[in-house]
Amino acid sequence: MRAIASFLLFALMSVSAFAQKDSAVPSDPDQAKLVTSDIDNFWRAMDMATAANLEEVLDREYLKRASPGLEDFIKLRIGNAKNLASVVNAHRKYYQSIRESTLKISSMRPRIKAAFYALKSLYPDAIFPDVYFVIGRLSSGGTTSKRALLIGTEMYGRTPATPTEELNDWLKQVLAPVDNLPYIVAHEIIHVQQKMIFSRTLLGRSIIEGSADFLAELISGKHINEHLHLYGNLRERELWEEFKKEMNDSKTDRWLYNGASAKDRPADLGYYIGCKIAESYYNRAADKRQAVRDIIEVQDFEKFLRDSGYESKFVKTEDRSQKSGVRSQGSEVRSQNVSDFPHLLVPPGFHFFSTLSRMI
Ligand SMILES: [Zn+2]
Repeated sequence: MRAIASFLLFALMSVSAFAQKDSAVPSDPDQAKLVTSDIDNFWRAMDMATAANLEEVLDREYLKRASPGLEDFIKLRIGNAKNLASVVNAHRKYYQSIRESTLKISSMRPRIKAAFYALKSLYPDAIFPDVYFVIGRLSSGGTTSKRALLIGTEMYGRTPATPTEELNDWLKQVLAPVDNLPYIVAHEIIHVQQKMIFSRTLLGRSIIEGSADFLAELISGKHINEHLHLYGNLRERELWEEFKKEMNDSKTDRWLYNGASAKDRPADLGYYIGCKIAESYYNRAADKRQAVRDIIEVQDFEKFLRDSGYESKFVKTEDRSQKSGVRSQGSEVRSQNVSDFPHLLVPPGFHFFSTLSRMI
């Protein structure tokens, strides 16, 4: 489950298409469609199918009735009915176990829309592609097409009762609970806004991911990496010292998208460092709306790090005393609760969670 960040990379890497302010992508969150009709079609097909005709029924009742988003997802991730039927057949128990989770998604629309409204309030230039919730073949938790965010909801069916005997090691790691979906959509909608297409460095790529986590929490109440913060906050200085030595490298596989290889500590700690840098930038800024804009539109990652003041957190007490000529009042800058600011921006009825929690 810790490696979900790794597969969401694929969504991240392709969202830059939206950053071009495509006029077809709504700038009004009211206009963004959150489409779950494909989920209903999938289960109707499953109810009609027998083991002998699964491929044919999935094709006729699910794929051939595809929403525009599922049409894109078929091209990008599913392929054809044969591919889908073969994965469903090999994971019968798992697919049967996720029906309830996938059917909960339509009730999450208000939470997802609330995050969109919060983002719009913080960042008026925000754009909102339609979001399609589809069921795929256990290969992708999300991706984007030119017109939409596409969420593979079968990857979000984990519950305490999930049967695991059909699952390979990767699936055992990445499958996540459906309750995290609004936070995942929030993370992805931040990527949609980010104007930078790509950074070659560990620093840049970590800031891109960590900013998406930081702002996802700001607009939805949570981000998806609480486990990294639980781990990292106990070791922040040593992680920073280690990260700093590598942050200008293009090699990122000790810090990002390393769910398959991380052994002695959590994967994807670059998300954590990037989030802390974005948080520091935000906390330091007098104008919080401008800070959100700066975080979304960052281009010069080294300057952003300097401006964030993040590193000053690790200046030893005696160094500070020497520099300032006064006794230090404490060794670390107190961190503001990142949830302080946006509460008032969230529409009535939206339950705003108090602190970080997580999954991807
Ligand atoms: Zn991401």
